[in-house]
Amino acid sequence: MFDSRANASALLHSVFGFNAFRPGQQEIVDAVLAGENVLAVMPTGSGKSLCYQLPAIARPGLTLVVSPLIALMRDQVRALTAAGVAAGSLNSGNDPAENSRVMSLLRRRELRLLYVAPERLARPDTVETLAESNVVMMAIDEAHCVSQWGHDFRPEYLTLGNLARQIGGRLQTLAFTATADAPTRNDIVDKLFASPPRVFVRSFDRPNLRLAFKPKERSSRQVLSFVRSHEAESGIVYCASRRKVEELAQALKAAGISALPYHAGLDKAVRDANQDAFQQQDGVVMTATVAFGMGIDKPDVRFVCHADLPANVEAYYQEIGRAGRDGLAADTLTLYSLGDMQLRRMQIEQGESPDERKRIERQRLGALLSLAEAPRCRRQTLLAYFGEPSQPCGNCDLCQEGVERFDGTIDAQKAMSAIVRTGERFGMEHLVALLLGERTENILKFNHDRLPTFGVGNGRKAGEWRSIFRQLSATGLIAQDLMEHGRWWVTDEGWQVLKGKATIELRKDMATGAAGKPSQRDRKAAAASAVVGEVDSVLFDALKALRTRLAQEQKVPAYVVFSDRTLAELATHKPTSTRAFREIHGVGDAKLERYGAAFLEVVQQHAR
Ligand code: ADP
Ligand code: ZN
Repeated sequence: MFDSRANASALLHSVFGFNAFRPGQQEIVDAVLAGENVLAVMPTGSGKSLCYQLPAIARPGLTLVVSPLIALMRDQVRALTAAGVAAGSLNSGNDPAENSRVMSLLRRRELRLLYVAPERLARPDTVETLAESNVVMMAIDEAHCVSQWGHDFRPEYLTLGNLARQIGGRLQTLAFTATADAPTRNDIVDKLFASPPRVFVRSFDRPNLRLAFKPKERSSRQVLSFVRSHEAESGIVYCASRRKVEELAQALKAAGISALPYHAGLDKAVRDANQDAFQQQDGVVMTATVAFGMGIDKPDVRFVCHADLPANVEAYYQEIGRAGRDGLAADTLTLYSLGDMQLRRMQIEQGESPDERKRIERQRLGALLSLAEAPRCRRQTLLAYFGEPSQPCGNCDLCQEGVERFDGTIDAQKAMSAIVRTGERFGMEHLVALLLGERTENILKFNHDRLPTFGVGNGRKAGEWRSIFRQLSATGLIAQDLMEHGRWWVTDEGWQVLKGKATIELRKDMATGAAGKPSQRDRKAAAASAVVGEVDSVLFDALKALRTRLAQEQKVPAYVVFSDRTLAELATHKPTSTRAFREIHGVGDAKLERYGAAFLEVVQQHAR
């Protein structure tokens, strides 16, 4: 009998060149091979594509992959083709030759994976062709685009739920997304599946990403010194405005860094050229607004710097998630100021979203501010937002450098008693006014000026109190209920502190622009240590030079030849036989045949 599971791990090795599944992949692949409909929520970089590519190859029939991102489609088709898999795409960017190659593979029923943009699927001629093409499975990437709660809503996604019926038959459906929060997830299930799918949620931990936040001082200097500490590495610098993108790109260029700008105000041709340069060359720094977004599929982005505070915690997580997709160490730094916080708040209040959505936006922004001002491990704070308990990570600025703290028990008690005395029914601004002893309209209306808490916090500024609320939220002493107008309530842990049974430390620099300590981390060592053993850096550079040459000859991005991880392993294990070479991460049969001899030659020369 055909054993699909054994077959799957054989394909993992022979086609993709991987020795093992990443956490979470095997369960999903098993479920897919068993014929189930699946929704998989996995962080960026965790290896979602393999979860549909492998089953697509393991079984007969054609798999449709729906993706809104043409650049990503192109990359994936290229990578699959390089691995010897018959794959193609239908999109507006194709030239006629590519289209006819795809159509003829389709007609001969030889195509295994077909990538299609959602608007293409709305066309009757596409539907007609697919009805004749033995489509057995549909994998929907970036499935959160179906949800109106997110910022990436695409109306064409709403038609996907009907596609199976249109192309006549039962269609196994898989949906993938990296957006974690509950409202989005429910929307995906409602709109894409006729009955509830199997749901897989992967841990959102990306341990190889270093997390750091710093208050802004002179932000362009801070950005420059961060980028300089990553010489010759690819990275992204996100800015909140087009003007700042241009300015920073100039400043970086003037400092001898190959930086390029990217924002929606640039000519499309310029934008595309800059994106291609970033994807294909080593060491380009993209200075960009968030318009430089979802489609980036470059595995070896080594750093992401936010020159301004991101829009919210979801956006932050997505944006830093573009670094280190190859699993090697990558660095992130987020700069923020009080002004940034106010700007983001204003953008929400003045935006045109309906109230229900504004509430979600406020919650996401609040979570990001808590993270910026977290008094303890950033990762613990971030993962707690996604509902995952965890230990201090050792790979964030707070774990590594600590932060000046003070015994904040009394302040915490004041803040929490303001919450409790007002019946756990009010939001932050009201509570701050109460603590400061301000006679606002609402304070008077509710007679809150008669409470014993009225004015007990007038030794501190409003901004400090807001920071204290966020820190208490970051440590889980208080929580906010967003379905009820953002009211705060005190958790069980909070009550421990309120009753004097536990103490709490808070950080001294409360969003007042105080300086952070310089980081003294040896990044190179960290990157190398992700691969077991010592990387020979001379050999690594020689391998990299060969990779660049081959990539240029074949007009593909460097990582399509081999990933950094593959080169690092080669420079560590220094295989001398084809067989040993075959054991290296990322080396499958097709690549062994195409590149093995050339790379082995470099390793052997180096040994002599
Ligand atoms: P995403 O979840 O963001 O879509 P991708 O599918 O693009 O992630 O995968 C991210 C990177 O991880 C790619 O470079 C891919 O080749 C690599 N990868 C995927 N699965 C494995 C595996 N089992 N072992 C090693 N590398 C893998
Ligand atoms: Zn940490």
